[in-house]
Amino acid sequence: MTYEANKIRLIMELRRQGITDKRVLGAVERVPRELFVPEALRSEAYDNMPLPICQGQTISQPFIVAYMTQALRLGPRDRVLEIGTGSGYQAAVLSKLCRRVCTIERYRSLLIQAEACFTALKLHNITTRLGDGNRGWPELAPFARIIVTAAAPQMPVTLADQLDEGGIMVVPVGPPGDQTLIRLTRDSDGFHEEALLAVRFVPLVAGMPLDRK
Ligand code: SAH
Repeated sequence: MTYEANKIRLIMELRRQGITDKRVLGAVERVPRELFVPEALRSEAYDNMPLPICQGQTISQPFIVAYMTQALRLGPRDRVLEIGTGSGYQAAVLSKLCRRVCTIERYRSLLIQAEACFTALKLHNITTRLGDGNRGWPELAPFARIIVTAAAPQMPVTLADQLDEGGIMVVPVGPPGDQTLIRLTRDSDGFHEEALLAVRFVPLVAGMPLDRK
């Protein structure tokens, strides 16, 4: 089966939904989403929907991936921190648009699968880490951009502190059923928040899974 027609339809839909940045559309076009979804759901890989992955998690809807990527205003020299690797799809899209993606996931099983996809696609500018993303990645901070792909109960201050001056963080904040995507920018006066969109994400969990899988 070929995905080409479905992919073109998806790109046209993203444009209608307000994704105007051609570089973002180009990155979505170049990343094979079918590799990041469970085999049984491959025929739905280019539907504009979130899909279930392992450990009760989800690969975000393509619109949300494109929207968050566009909201980050990435530059080619940027180093980006992602919290919540999940399937690895968002990291793969980011990797086409910046210098390096550093991505943290708390489930080992998800991280192993995502790493296999990065290797298969020769995405050598993605660095992964198993851990609690709430702590950020202090050894590599500061980051030009931070993207959080799970909903934080409040603005994650530890992550904000790992933003460089001139940096941007895009993060869903709020309890289940009432989450808003926030863009936080840091300049010489401090932090500025912009509410972008009502969203639905799985929660950003504190700590590591007990069985460490
Ligand atoms: N970016 C992913 C979306 C995954 S869903 C993709 O493109 O597929 C959110 C992910 O965040 C899940 O995999 C979940 O396990 C992870 N997550 C939740 N809380 C976390 C935490 N504290 N640290 C690291 N990862 C976390």
